[in-house]
Amino acid sequence: LTERLGTIFDRLRKRGALSEADVNEALREVRIALLEADVALPVVKDLINGIKARAVGQEVLRSVTPAQMVVKIVHDHLIEVLSGGETDEKLRLGEGAGINLNASPPVPVLLVGLQGSGKTTTAGKLAVRLRKREKKKVLLASLDIYRPAAQKQLAILGEQTETATVEIIPGQDALTIAQRAMDQARRQGFDVVILDTAGRTAVDEQMMAEAAAVKAAVNPLETLLVADALTGQDAVTLARSFHERVGITGIVLTRVDGDSRGGAALSMRGVTGCPIRLIGVGEKLDALETFQPDRIAGRILGMGDVVGLVERAADLIEKEDAEKLALKLTKGEFTLEDMAKQFKQLRKMGDFKGILGMLPGIGKIQKQLDEAKVDDKMIARQEAIILSMTIEERHNPKLLNASRRRRIALGSGTTVQDVNRLLKQHQMMSEMMKKVGKLGKRGLFGKGLPP
Ligand code: GDP
Ligand code: MG
Repeated sequence: LTERLGTIFDRLRKRGALSEADVNEALREVRIALLEADVALPVVKDLINGIKARAVGQEVLRSVTPAQMVVKIVHDHLIEVLSGGETDEKLRLGEGAGINLNASPPVPVLLVGLQGSGKTTTAGKLAVRLRKREKKKVLLASLDIYRPAAQKQLAILGEQTETATVEIIPGQDALTIAQRAMDQARRQGFDVVILDTAGRTAVDEQMMAEAAAVKAAVNPLETLLVADALTGQDAVTLARSFHERVGITGIVLTRVDGDSRGGAALSMRGVTGCPIRLIGVGEKLDALETFQPDRIAGRILGMGDVVGLVERAADLIEKEDAEKLALKLTKGEFTLEDMAKQFKQLRKMGDFKGILGMLPGIGKIQKQLDEAKVDDKMIARQEAIILSMTIEERHNPKLLNASRRRRIALGSGTTVQDVNRLLKQHQMMSEMMKKVGKLGKRGLFGKGLPP
């Protein structure tokens, strides 16, 4: 007995807290995942340091491995980095417009970014979104005087989306057009003016100076950097230069429908501290969504399965069921119904060994089950056996005489031997639980137990 208890303690101690070695090992994988997702190197380094500080010493949920636990911590950290700092409740929850419009109209919104990043498309999408969702009267203005067709492109987009655009007057510079747009909006009672600027293929001084001048003149409430999700290691330079030279308030990530893992989101967020407001998920004009940190975080890590597993484990274990079970254990009760519940959880989790590891003192049974090649089908059979019993029988297995066992076997499509085996297992489990339950009274299960 002492030996067995020793193993239980061992197990519990081992599952206790994340060691630095656990964390380092798991973070090696995470680092690779981040780099593969095209998160810029300096940002990766910052993230890893932040995560390490947070993870070492953290308690590991029973039923998951330390590595899985670290991935979950990383995931939570990414979400915090991606979503932190937003004080406006509506914006934080991704409700409403998705951008800040809290000012007296007309509210100017300035779009900046490289050529081909999706500024003009986003201007059109945003106009549709603001009109449909927020019933806003929107005026579109193209400040791109360098490409001959640019202003025309926006005019056509305006027609398609039934949005007003400023009249094209050849020869006017960007600043003049911007001011004219604001004047018109004031006169004609527009709520929002979206200013679409010219872009270059690379960051250059003239583009920055022009955008900065427009910004100073119209004082936009939001200056949004529109950037392609496929931007790799350049994302840091790009975001930093726009932020330093123009000063942005938010980011729109486009082409999130492509196969990029979205690392640019982290890089740009990390460098500017500005929130990612919206994401473009297609060429169509309704393909603009509110940014959801958890989705991008999962995508960046590419470890959604693990995160889901840990979340499910946390859900299943931490809640009342666990508390109820623990309470029962202290009383030395473990009915066949409890066993069926465990089976159900097993199936929900899909990670069989995980849950077994979670049940205290189960090592011996686990070995037997391993030998018996337990799988989902077997769990389903065992569940069926218990379901074929009456409630009375589930609470008092002593009632199960030979004829009742035959009935149950028939009802569950199994054999009497199967039924016998299950009952034996249950008996073993409940005996062990009783022992562990006694320990519980002395405070082995600190959590979930009444004092
Ligand atoms: P601009 O030079 O920054 O104004 O870029 P445009 O708005 O003209 O967009 C360049 C190209 O990218 C166009 O062919 C758009 O249809 C496409 N585009 C823009 N946003 C998205 C998006 O979210 N997803 C996809 N797949 N294509 C997009
Ligand atoms: Mg354009």
